[in-house]
Amino acid sequence: MTDLRSLTLTELEEEMKAMGEKPFRAKQLYGWMHQRLAVCYEEMTNLPKTLRDKCRERYDYTVLRPVRVQESALDGTRKYLFALADGNTVESVLMRYRHGNSVCISSQVGCRMGCRFCASTLDGLERSLLSSEMLEQVYAVMRHTGERVSHVVVMGSGEPLDNYDNLLRFIELLTDENGQHISQRNITVSTCGIVPKMRQLADRKLQITLALSLHAATDEKRRQLMPIAKRYSLQELTEACAYYFEQTGRRITFEYSLVKGVNDSDRDAEQLAGLIGRLNCHVNLIPVNPVKERDYVQSDRRAVDAFQEKLRRRGINVTVRRELGRDIDGACGQLRRRYMEERRTSDIF
Ligand code: SAH
Repeated sequence: MTDLRSLTLTELEEEMKAMGEKPFRAKQLYGWMHQRLAVCYEEMTNLPKTLRDKCRERYDYTVLRPVRVQESALDGTRKYLFALADGNTVESVLMRYRHGNSVCISSQVGCRMGCRFCASTLDGLERSLLSSEMLEQVYAVMRHTGERVSHVVVMGSGEPLDNYDNLLRFIELLTDENGQHISQRNITVSTCGIVPKMRQLADRKLQITLALSLHAATDEKRRQLMPIAKRYSLQELTEACAYYFEQTGRRITFEYSLVKGVNDSDRDAEQLAGLIGRLNCHVNLIPVNPVKERDYVQSDRRAVDAFQEKLRRRGINVTVRRELGRDIDGACGQLRRRYMEERRTSDIF
């Protein structure tokens, strides 16, 4: 069945026409779905019952249900675990900043990229999310809090550029003036570096921020941490970043998770500066979040500061990401994993 909440307004108008409905019905329906965030047709009181019934028969209507919500006692960050219609679950995170509320969403159930330090990929990819399932993560948080969301980061579980078409449709719907109308500039998409898709995205000339998970400054080291580095070299990757900037005028954010004894030495910092020094970019240093299935250890405060200082002295824009939600399984994929483990054990007993 067609997924109603993934359709653009133009597509919805076509659907209404094909059903013999007046075009203005599309706008009404769209408003209920993307502005008023209705969870069912019953709410759509100004639509005739016959139309609501027809829609129910013909389309899937995606709604996410929170199955677990954890709020950090430290910083008010909230982590949501949502149930999808097929029984799968995804994680989203609400972060409250001075500049507004930001939601970090997942783009896939699981992930097939295999990064060594990441919990989302441990069981591989289950499936990609529909555009509506990405949108609903934002909408469901808005319904739950009653607050507006101004920023969205696609940095949860999954590789967004491995779900490219649904990602672009999601961005189109999220920024639409008939929906939530979130500014492209307030959207960040984080990728492990699928080079052809980065170039394709650049050609769309969107004003979103592209964040690239770098984590190492030599091919050899990056290959140890991220299997995708076996497909694309750092040379190809940095060229694609330069191209993205050329096409969009948006500077790239490089994410670099610091792992003790692996990528946090002075020499690593030097090599990183050499690699990206000429690019128009910003570096986000993230002390790696320990994942219990892996033995990676967070760099200590001194190493993080020294690393930052070294980059700064080389004229690179660099910040250390404030760690939010440390007490609530903040890192990618941790909450979902724990939930699944608990369910598994409760099935046994
Ligand atoms: N697949 C995309 C987006 C999801 S991961 C990507 O690779 O960018 C979002 C970010 O969190 C990435 O930079 C990823 O490398 C990082 N990450 C994953 N697990 C982490 C952990 N345990 N500690 C610190 N960062 C982690």
